[in-house]
Order: sequence, then structure tokens, then C-alpha cells
Amino acid sequence: MRPTKVLSCVLSIMCVCARTPPISAQTYGLRQRSVIAASTVLDGTGRTLQDVRIVIQGSTIAAIDPRGEGPVDYDLRGLTVLPGWIDAHVHITWVFGKDGKNGGTEGTTQEDAYQAAANAWVTLMAGFTTVQSVGAANDVPLRDAIAKGGIPGPRILTAIEPLEGRGEATGTPDEIRAFVRKQKASGADLIKIFASQSIRQGGGMTLSQEQLNAACDEARRQGLRTLVHAYKEAVRAATMAGCTEIEHGTLATDDDLKLMATKGTYFDPQAGLVIENYLLNREKYLGTSGYTAQGFTAMEKILPLDHEIVEHAARTPGLKMVFGTDAVAGAHGRNAEEFIDRVRDCGVDPMAAMVSANSLGAEALGMGNRIGSIVPGLEADIIALDGNPLNDITAVRRVVFVMKGGVVYKNLARGAIPFYAGVQP
Ligand SMILES: [Zn+2]
Repeated sequence: MRPTKVLSCVLSIMCVCARTPPISAQTYGLRQRSVIAASTVLDGTGRTLQDVRIVIQGSTIAAIDPRGEGPVDYDLRGLTVLPGWIDAHVHITWVFGKDGKNGGTEGTTQEDAYQAAANAWVTLMAGFTTVQSVGAANDVPLRDAIAKGGIPGPRILTAIEPLEGRGEATGTPDEIRAFVRKQKASGADLIKIFASQSIRQGGGMTLSQEQLNAACDEARRQGLRTLVHAYKEAVRAATMAGCTEIEHGTLATDDDLKLMATKGTYFDPQAGLVIENYLLNREKYLGTSGYTAQGFTAMEKILPLDHEIVEHAARTPGLKMVFGTDAVAGAHGRNAEEFIDRVRDCGVDPMAAMVSANSLGAEALGMGNRIGSIVPGLEADIIALDGNPLNDITAVRRVVFVMKGGVVYKNLARGAIPFYAGVQP
């Protein structure tokens, strides 16, 4: 779904990582080397490892020791250990305002800023160590504050200002190219494009093929990925334009899904959380910009269509379906519900669901060599669940351990350490 108001936002893809030194255990005066003992590890690529020690040096994974010997700092045996999850589509600064109503992503008050910081905190506590926030200027200071280690939260990539499709009024191909370059200059990590109306308003296409071609081609030239909000015929158009990833995709045909698979386009449909969250918080959204009673009626009808597109996507050979929730106000920290929706309601294989938020999710961000797998050399982003999601997908709600870049933010496995400041050196 789109933010109620468009912000001038932008992302710089290689972003945070390139500009700011990573927060490491050393930053907080913690020991440089630590060892996790694990009985079951889903390594993020689809493999399961048994009875290993994960050796962490500074912010990265130094070794996987299959012998399982030596002293242990974090005993996660009996739990399921996996890489921190990646959510490809959130609106991390989307808040409820002081009046309790939908406040969008453009909040300007101190309360809004604290609420956005709280969104980041609960997202990290829910096991999400990296998120892609797709379009708000307010993302930038939050992204940078987290990257500098001033406040806790997931690594954030942001699109800053999205390209809003408005038919011819959007601009000529040259103007669209200039818009893309402007986002890059502002520090965008990727480019977000709205090529369809909201599905609540029918989902009609709002950019021509020529306009989409210009946007995605220019982003590619600038070294930026493109995420395209698209329904129905816009899905095919964005795929033909060579855009990186399609969001939502409701009412795309099986042929469209096959085309995405052939062209290697990533696909990020939502099976439920976003609509469930709107229905749950109906009174907070109703009457705010873009949220009418008719819109809510439409949402109830859209939910089964969303299940259908995820089911069909899961059955399309070679289609790279990544994990994204479209989390807005009310949904932050509950991102993992989308796993349950996908597996329970849409027949997605639980291991595929995990990989979609691990190695595949990282690959889609162009960060497969940094995050998303438990292998030596990658960032030590490691979480543990009380339960095994391969047998019981609701285990994704029980995140008891969160390490990001070698720093432990949550360790309920050995007594509550809810905040990194409390971690013992
Ligand atoms: Zn969205």
C-alpha cells in the first residue's frame, strides 16, 4: 500500500554500509570473540546444520565449527537458530499520530519521531535485522541514527521519495530520468515506483511502458535497484521494463508470473498482514487520507485474491519470491505474521518462506555477500526461535535471541537482556 502522503524520500542503495562504519561488538566494549552453541541451524540457504558452534569475531561470522567443542557464550541448543530476517517492504516511519489516528510517514512532532524509533526497536526485537523502507524522507535520519549506533533498530535501506505514477503528468522520460538521479544524489538506496493506483481504487496502471522503461533503465545506469508497486497489467509492464522487483502483484496472470521467473524479476506479494492490520486498526485509519469505508469493503474482497497470487507464485517454477510485509502503523513488530499467512493460507513451503527472508531476500537487495546466511565472512545477524518453523510456523512469533552485527539485543534464552546497554562485557 502507499503512504497516505508522498514524501520526498530516497535511498542510497549501497548506502549506510558504504558510508558509515558498521556497529560492532567492539563499539560497545564487548568481547571481540563469542561462540554460539546451536543444535539446529537453518543456515538461510535452505540447509539445516546440526550441533555446531558458530564463532563470531567482531561483527562477522568467523567460523562454523562442526566439532562443537570449546567454551560457549550463548547456549542456543534446543532452539532453532537462523539468520536475522530481511523484510523487503516496510514503511518504518509510518505512525499513529497523537490523536491515535493514522499519521502517515511524514510526522513532524517529537512524538512521531519517538514512535518511528519505537517501530525500529520492535521490528528488531521481532527478529528483523534488515528492512527496506520504501519511500519517506523521514526514513533517512532514522536509517542514519541506527547505522551510527545511536539507537537500536534494523539496518534500514530507504527509497526516500517515490516516483508517483500520474499518467502523462508524471513527466517525460527525460524528466523521469532526472527524478531518479535526484534520488540517488539525496542518498537513496533504491528507487520506489508506483505504477498502479491503490488496489482499493481499482489498481489501474498509472505509468506508460515508455515511462517505466525510462525509470528502471536510469536506475540501473545509476547502480540502483527498482521496486515497483504494481497490480494487474502493470506487473507485466514493469517486468518488461527490466525493473528489479515487483511489489503486491494482485491480479497478475500465471503468464505474468512465468515471465517474471524467466526474466529473473523478484516478486514480493503480501499474503495477509497488511490487510489484516488495516482491518484490526480500522477505526484508526478510517477517515484519514486514502482510507474510506468503501476502501475497507474492497480490502475484505482483496484478501482472498492476495492469497491466490501467493499460491500461484509459490507454484511457479523459478520465480524468486521474497519476503515483504508492507508494514504500516500498527504492523511494526508483527512482521513475522506474514510468514504464517504465507505458509498457513497459501501453501508456501516453510523452508522456502525462511529462505525468502534470508539468502534470497539478501540477494534481492544486492547484499547476498553481506547478510542473509550463516556462513563465515558474513555479518553476524543471528536469531533464535523457541520452536522450529519447519514443523510449526507459529514459532516465528517466539523470537528469543537477536544478534545484529555481533551485538546481542535480545537474549531471553538465558535471562532477559532486553537492550544492548545491558549486555555484559
Ligand atoms: Zn507499501
